[in-house]
Amino acid sequence: MSLEVDRLECGYDRAPILHGVSLRVGPGELVAVVGSNGAGKTTLVRTIAGLLTVRSGDLRVDGSSFARTSAARRARSGIVMVPEGRRLFPQLTVGENIEMGRRAARGRTGGEDPVAALLDAFPILTERWDQQANLLSGGEQQMVALTRAVAARPRYLLLDEPSLGLSPLKTLEVFRLIEMIRERTGAGILLVEQMADQALQAADRAYVLELGRVSMEGPAAEVRASDEVRRAYLGVA
Ligand code: ATP
Repeated sequence: MSLEVDRLECGYDRAPILHGVSLRVGPGELVAVVGSNGAGKTTLVRTIAGLLTVRSGDLRVDGSSFARTSAARRARSGIVMVPEGRRLFPQLTVGENIEMGRRAARGRTGGEDPVAALLDAFPILTERWDQQANLLSGGEQQMVALTRAVAARPRYLLLDEPSLGLSPLKTLEVFRLIEMIRERTGAGILLVEQMADQALQAADRAYVLELGRVSMEGPAAEVRASDEVRRAYLGVA
């Protein structure tokens, strides 16, 4: 059981961006993809979500290919993306945004309500429940976007740069939420981040993406400790 990306090639118009990327996310696993600006991280997430076409290679869940399935069907089957920039419904309240996520859950119901646990742990969400989403700070919006995604009962969650534009303090808070999502939902999480240090601390395993290719992979602690990553992504001389 896992989400598999197998020798994936994709890109925009004539520009190839990913050149044979392979990776795997197991259920309940938090997997980080780190890499500098332009490495292809957003392209990877958008392709798994179905917003960009697979040119060659394959995408599979539990062994079945979904490379030719529409984005809507992928979402319905539980592959849920939180895009860069969060994309909340700006005129709707926090509660209404989260309710939209619940509607997307379709048949995936039962068991403990994962949203309730998040609301308990992060009271700010309840405090802001009736406020219009676009009046929230960036960090709060990110938390709402993550909670909305959890309300959809994802089997696999694709997170594109959740820390983008956030202060270090808010980034920590968002990462705390992501770790809680992993604990409470059992979803496999693919976390694409430029904030390599935080991502590698939170993740179980990690991949380094350089110019559209995986240049390193392994347990996140090992990747974080490697000289190459320390120099290139953690600012250690
Ligand atoms: P960032 O952190 O800046 O989002 P990234 O690792 O997510 O970086 P991508 O956004 O996937 O990288 O971009 C990879 C490459 O694809 C870059 O060279 C970028 O210029 C190019 N690219 C991105 N979007 C488009 C587009 N719509 N059309 C053409 N090229 C694009």
